[in-house]
Amino acid sequence: MSQTIIDIPNESISCPHLVGGEWNQGSGESFEIFSPYNGESVGTSHHATTEEVNKAIYAANLASESWKNTPLKERTGIMFKFREILLRDIDKISNMVSLESGKTFGESKAGVMKGLEVLEYALSLQNLDSAAKMEVSRGVHCEYRREPLGVVASITPFNFPAMVPMWTIPIALTLGNCYVWKPSEKTPLTATLIGEALHEAGLPKGVMTILNGGVQTVNDIIDHEDVKAVAFVGSSKVAKLVYTRATAHGKRALCLGGAKNHIILLPDADSEMAGVGIADSFTGCAGQRCMAASVLLAVGSVDSQIEAIKKRAEETTCGEKMGAIITKEQVEFLNQAIDEAVKDGAKLILDGRGKPAPKGYEGGYWLAPTILDGVKPGSKAAMTELFGPVLSIIRAQNISEALEIENSNDYGNACSVFTNNGAMAELVAKNASAGMVGINIGVPVPREPFSFGGINESKFGYGDITGSNSLNFWSDIKKVTTKWQMQNDHNWMS
Ligand code: NAD
Repeated sequence: MSQTIIDIPNESISCPHLVGGEWNQGSGESFEIFSPYNGESVGTSHHATTEEVNKAIYAANLASESWKNTPLKERTGIMFKFREILLRDIDKISNMVSLESGKTFGESKAGVMKGLEVLEYALSLQNLDSAAKMEVSRGVHCEYRREPLGVVASITPFNFPAMVPMWTIPIALTLGNCYVWKPSEKTPLTATLIGEALHEAGLPKGVMTILNGGVQTVNDIIDHEDVKAVAFVGSSKVAKLVYTRATAHGKRALCLGGAKNHIILLPDADSEMAGVGIADSFTGCAGQRCMAASVLLAVGSVDSQIEAIKKRAEETTCGEKMGAIITKEQVEFLNQAIDEAVKDGAKLILDGRGKPAPKGYEGGYWLAPTILDGVKPGSKAAMTELFGPVLSIIRAQNISEALEIENSNDYGNACSVFTNNGAMAELVAKNASAGMVGINIGVPVPREPFSFGGINESKFGYGDITGSNSLNFWSDIKKVTTKWQMQNDHNWMS
């Protein structure tokens, strides 16, 4: 191991499938996993074939019978142990996340911590989610029972190899489902560590399945008749495809897509809060998070706050302070998008291109923070998800104009406002066309039990992916009405 910013192992990591509780490489075509830190291959995996997908789901379905009949408290006991193992191994898992996704070690650890928060919420379900029972007429009781669905599937993106899967694994498993996970083929290595941790915690064989691969593997999973629900997180284009395919089979699907998040900056905003909050939002995870600020709607005279954002962004150098971009192609895409924005009339007030790579990581994929001012509403830099550390500033005369621009975007994940005026903040909270709103918060991720999810083109399906609004996605509610004795007062339902 060479230790500088992250540990890069000397040997290639093998990334197997987990089928029926056994790890195996499979017989499908192999693919390599590259680290954005140095551009080198760090591991190998294989595409799960149709036959392997069928075999895996058969094993999951067999395991489902016993797992769904395991009492909630017993299932929760295993998840408690899972939590202890994740905390014990948090540095190892975080390093793996960094290695394959390009995040800084601190960001990776924060992602695992957020996953643990969802896990802690799942652990509380045994106490919080006891179902209602009521005597609805003399001697007749109605009750709700939450029942697992059976085998459920989850398809996850590259940018949070631990956190995004951990949005759904704890809740889906605790509620008694068997979980089939297809991680991103760009970042599948962390999945092995999570699968190992679940088995060490005592999860029965077949309850967790991990299948590696790409489009064909995803389609085989969705099409399998024993898969009852499909959760997806990734780009909007693929979210829509997966949602359409799953629902065409009559399955429930919840598919979270991409984003173009806006921050409205008002003249009365605190410069320090705005500087740190907005710069960290667009540079965090090198801009590769679905909650990253992408457009700054600068209302009126906000030059002092913009100067604070620029200063903070300039200090956010690549390496220890800001991670790498996922692929070389994505760096090229971002460079071109910056060129196009300038051609469209924007002014480059901070250019992150061509900066020296961190020492020892010259082969990696880097772009330092970049700020474009005077971006035109409706232009590519204003409308499309770039997914990199690029902030597009659009100037607006007033808050109504700013909200109009925000509302005109197809996405609807997050919108924030920086102000000291409560009425203005409330106006944005009410009128932003986004599922998650922040007030003086750059990355307005709701914390458990408040659920996570956008609207518009950022989400296809009903409900949210975490928190209390996710429970009904992972379960069916059975209504049981009971009478044990003949009653004298017959009515229409006796
Ligand atoms: P992606 O859509 O390219 O891939 C996501 C998953 O879909 C991967 O597992 C991939 O193998 C699979 N996939 C790719 N093409 C497919 C196809 N044609 N059919 C079926 N499956 C396919 O996304 P990505 O590049 O890995 O992740 C980045 C995107 O994810 C960004 O758009 C980002 O905003 C979004 N994202 C959204 C959220 C959210 O909560 N809304 C969270 C994280 C990331």
